[in-house]
This record gives sequence, structure tokens and C-alpha cells, in this order.
Amino acid sequence: MTHGDPAVVISGAGVSPGRAAGPAVWMTSAAGEPPKRRSSADPEAGCAAIAEATHAVGRDLATRAEATEGAARDVLEATAQIAQDPTLVRDAQHRVRENSLSPERAVWEAAGAVADQFESLGGYLAERARDVIDVRDRIVAHLLGAPTPGVPRREDPFILLARDLAPADTAQLDPEVVRGLVTEEGGPTSHTAILARAIGIPAVVGVGAALAEVGADTIVLVDGGAGQVHLDPPADAVAAASERAAVRTFTPPGATLDGYRVELLANVGEADDAEPAVRAGAEGVGLFRTEFCFLDRDSEPTVEEQVAAYSPVLAAFAGKKVVVRTLDAGADKPLPFLTDADETNPALGVRGYRTAWQNPEVLDHQLTAIARAAKQHEADVWVMAPMVSRVAEAEDFVTRCASHGLQTAGVMVEVPSAALLAGPMLARAAFASIGTNDLVQYTLAADRLLGALAPLSTPWDPAVLRLIELTCAGGRAQGRPVGVCGEAAASPALAAVLVGLGVSSLSMTPRALGDVAALLGSVTHEQCQTVAGLALAAESAEDARRAVRGALPVLTELAL
Ligand code: PEP
Ligand code: MG
Repeated sequence: MTHGDPAVVISGAGVSPGRAAGPAVWMTSAAGEPPKRRSSADPEAGCAAIAEATHAVGRDLATRAEATEGAARDVLEATAQIAQDPTLVRDAQHRVRENSLSPERAVWEAAGAVADQFESLGGYLAERARDVIDVRDRIVAHLLGAPTPGVPRREDPFILLARDLAPADTAQLDPEVVRGLVTEEGGPTSHTAILARAIGIPAVVGVGAALAEVGADTIVLVDGGAGQVHLDPPADAVAAASERAAVRTFTPPGATLDGYRVELLANVGEADDAEPAVRAGAEGVGLFRTEFCFLDRDSEPTVEEQVAAYSPVLAAFAGKKVVVRTLDAGADKPLPFLTDADETNPALGVRGYRTAWQNPEVLDHQLTAIARAAKQHEADVWVMAPMVSRVAEAEDFVTRCASHGLQTAGVMVEVPSAALLAGPMLARAAFASIGTNDLVQYTLAADRLLGALAPLSTPWDPAVLRLIELTCAGGRAQGRPVGVCGEAAASPALAAVLVGLGVSSLSMTPRALGDVAALLGSVTHEQCQTVAGLALAAESAEDARRAVRGALPVLTELAL
């Protein structure tokens, strides 16, 4: 360690490895609802302030649009127009003159009325309601002289601190500027953590209330491997952390030292992830989280929109396998058109495949879109359903897929019931893919979003490993392949264990492919089976990890 003896270290769950240092910048929250009371201020001055604020916010958004490309540019251009929409401005000014409201209250009400109207019209306009609310918050902040809500815009790199961060916010972070991420809330396999790993920025989550004490611009060093945040570290530690670590490369095919084949695939969330996955050498896509394409949507995307969203991923992997997962909505990935916001236990609620019980047409539309996209491209398209918990669901899914001409239909094994019944499940389904993030959550009964339960949330737990072994046995009995696409696949030591348990493909964030391939390439299949046996025989996650690391000295040689 080169960072000497920092004054204060706070700990959480390290969810994305690497080190980064820089000034702390807090995520800015919206100013909130201005009070509804009559204002005695000069109404004409209030109207002028509204004109100035809407113009300034519109100009700011337009400038940001010019500096961006693709979908982000379209969104910014649209929001810039909303900010300067003459009807909105006139309505707000009318409310100042007629109702003696403060300018910020008038804007709040006028924009709220537009948003309500958009909501009630449904479809594309309902989605614009969210943009109107965003614009409203920006104009209100401007009128109050408060900071603009969201991730602050800065030219120089910084470390982002937040109470919590929605996956949709995380997906938009620019890793060139946001060099590290620390949150008060959040667990190790939350989707925010998964996205931070995919973007490649060091992240520590679930730090707790201690984070609130960290003032803006304090220099912090995030150690995503150790799960530590150092406050005011020495200058040499800051300099060392500022050099970004090189990523090990991978040249396919994946195999053990003695040539036992293990497919090494990538997890992708949307079109933009496809090219980096190809560049990282991925042999295909083992998990396409389609819901990530639509996290910002209030209404169901049309079949055409879905075909457009899936096509770039299929095109990037022509001739290769792409496993498309049907929408996995719920818990930390709510999709308003599929999930109920008022469930008491969303992780145990109507999520994943269960949403198809009430909304079978959404699944049918999605399968139509996947089948249409598959016809237009050369990829070998496989389809799988998330959160399958009963054999009848596997059968139902396979039948639905077949009716759309999708012949390779599989199930995710994410709950213990699916692992225990893997045999009959795989008598119906063409393959299984183990989602270790959820399998851990449901085996240990530990909410994956809760930092306080991080010690329980580990795929090294022998109970989880036994369920994986059972799934592989079910696959073997039916002659069906079993893969792993949860975060466990991205850990080199665990990858050896999983291969030893009988897993034939590993799908992970593209950045992890090099390390996992390097480890597998330095051990034999028999060694994988030996370490799998050691891990299964352990009585705790710690013992399993220690036993495997002790038996794989190559981990140290490879500096893994
Ligand atoms: C998992 O649960 O391991 C998985 C791959 O699905 P997600 O992380 O998207 O829930
Ligand atoms: Mg899952």
C-alpha cells in the first residue's frame, strides 16, 4: 500500500475494483415543492424572472445537447424545447399575475399541469411527462438560486457521492469525469453496482451515515477492491490512484490449460455495450438485460422500438450466440408499465417472469420483437426468462417462444426452487443460466440492495454452491448446457470453482474477461474439479474462499 496513513477511512461494500481519487462532489437533489402561498412581490418582476429562468435553462440544455451524440442528444434537445415552450412560460406568468403566486410556485404548477396532461394521454406523450418534471426542477432551482439537480456537471474528474443512485443515473455517468462512486445505501449486487463495474469505475456502496459527514471537495480515495474510502489521503496516494489500471486482454476461445472448453461471454445492457464487448473478445453474449434499454420508459415500448433496441447487439455478434433475456422488471428495476410500485416486498413480488401472468401481451410483444430482430441478423439468438420458480413456468415459456419461432428457449436459475427442480426444468428448457446475484439473495434471504447484509451476500456460500452443483447435475441428466451469468462468473477464483461444478459457459462484464480467461488458462479441468470439491465441503463462505485460494497458487502469480 502506498497511501500511508490516511486520517480517516470509512468502509462499505467494494463492488467495482480499482482505485481512484479526486474531490468529492455530491449528487444534487431537487429543491422540492415550493410553498403554495400568495406572494406580495411585484408580479411583473416575477414574470420577467420566469422568462429569464426558462431561457437560461433551455440554453443550458441546448448547449449540452450540442456537446453530445446519439440518444442522449435527442433527449437533451427535446428537454431544451420543453423549457422554452411558450405555452408553459405564458401559463406560469398567468399564474403569477392572476393568483399572486411566487414565480417558482407558478412554474411548479404550470409544469405539473402539462405533465398531468401528458400522463393522461398515454403512450409516447406519457414518457415526456418525466422530461417535463425534470425541466420543472431545473427552472425552480434556477429561480431559487439552488444548484441544478442531478449529477453535477464539471470539466475536471471527481468522485461522486450520493445517498443512492438509480441504475438509470448510473448508466449515464461519464467515466472520464466521474472517476469513482460512493453511496450511503446499496448492496454488492444491486444494479447500480453492476453498472459501475461495467463502466469500469471503482465503487464502494452501503457506506452508511458516515458518508453524510464528507464535505464537498474533500479529497477522497476510493478503493473499490477493499471497500474503503480514504478521506484526505496523502498526495502520493492520490497520484498513484489517478493512473488508471490497465485491463488484461482476452483472445478467444476460453479454455482450461488442458483444453477443456469454457465459453466466455459478455453481459450487455443496451446497444452501446455491444461494441466494447466485441473489442474485449467476448465469444458471444450470455446475458442481454433487455430491461436496461427501457429503464426510462413509463409505457411499453412498441415492437418497432424493441427491434431497434435489440438489433445493434445482434448485429455486433453476427454468427455468435446472443442470449436475450426477456424483461426482468421489478425490485430495483421497476418498469411502470409492468410493476406495481406499492408492493411491500418487491424482491419477493411480481417481478421477472411473474409479470407475464398479469401482462402476457407484453411478453408476446417482446417475443415478436426478438423473433423479428433475429430474422434480420445473423446472430444465433437464444432466449431466456428471468426468475422462473416452477416447472410449469419453464414449460409455458418454452411453448410461447416456440409459437414465435424461437426454438432455443431457456430458464434462469435464480431461486432455490429452480435449482432443486433443475432436472424437470431442463427436460423442458433448452438450457439454464444461473443468476447468482439473485440466487444468493434468495438462498440467504438477504436483500441484495442492503449494505448491512453484504457479509451474507456472497456466491462463495457453500449453500449457494450446492444449489449450483444440483443445477449442473440436472443439466447433465438432460444433456442440456448450464451457464452462469451472475457476478460470480467475473471472479477468477470462483470461475474455476464453477467450471469444476459443471458449468460450461461464463458470462460477465467485458472488463472481467481477460482476468477470468487468464486464470482458467493456467489450471487444468481436474484442478477445477478439485477446488470445486473443496468449496462444496466448506462450512462457510470464508472457509470456501480460503481453501480455494490456498489450492490455486496461480492466483498470486497472476496478481488476481
Ligand atoms: C442475477 O440475478 O445473477 C442476474 C444475472 O440477473 P440480474 O443481476 O439482472 O438480476
Ligand atoms: Mg437476477
